[in-house]
Amino acid sequence: MVDLVRRGDLAAFSELYESHLAVAGYVARAETDNASDAEDVVAEAFASVLEALLAGKGPRESFQAYLTTTVRRMAHRRNVRSRRNATLGYGSAMDDLVLDDNSTIRAFEATVLMRAFRSLPTRWQAVLWCVEVEGLKPAATGRVMELSPNGVSSLLIRAREGLRQAYLQEHVAQTPDDPCIDYSRHFGKYVRNAVRKAARQRIASHVVACARCADVLVYLKEIDEAMNERPKGDAATVS
Ligand SMILES: [Zn+2]
Repeated sequence: MVDLVRRGDLAAFSELYESHLAVAGYVARAETDNASDAEDVVAEAFASVLEALLAGKGPRESFQAYLTTTVRRMAHRRNVRSRRNATLGYGSAMDDLVLDDNSTIRAFEATVLMRAFRSLPTRWQAVLWCVEVEGLKPAATGRVMELSPNGVSSLLIRAREGLRQAYLQEHVAQTPDDPCIDYSRHFGKYVRNAVRKAARQRIASHVVACARCADVLVYLKEIDEAMNERPKGDAATVS
């Protein structure tokens, strides 16, 4: 099975994934300081093992021993990192989305970013993960995701824009009894000019009459503009 993966058979990898997920999750929960990090550690460990296998490296004998060692290594790295700066290390490119150097705000932003990331469709998460977090080149990402390099680029553009909209949306405080929820749940897209004309007009005329929503939109536009001013990290550029 491991040899199949090494030859690029991703179906074999998903079988390995299914059969070792429970063990990996158990080890990750035992080793991480923070239960919500355990899931990420498992995802990181599987991505790292897959990358090693596709590069012709990785386990020769026991897949499970190799995987659990990787999980432990990732968990320890994450524990050290989160103790050091209380931010979630999403890699330098993702950290660029973080808006302030103040550590409390950074920690909040990292959680917001994380929630935004998790709200995205799986394929968007996957391409962002491969490129922004693992730092894979478009060609390598294409092999993992069964896409051409051009396919990777266009998926990545959509995923980045989607992340940006979701990230803005996460800054809108929503409660189920909010009378404005029908408008405010579109604000992330609205600020990015990504809602259809009819909805756009409906929201615009609501905002003229609703001071609260107008304030929220001013706030979101500030966040959006602040993201433009940030220099782009190298890892975020696909050429
Ligand atoms: Zn309103």
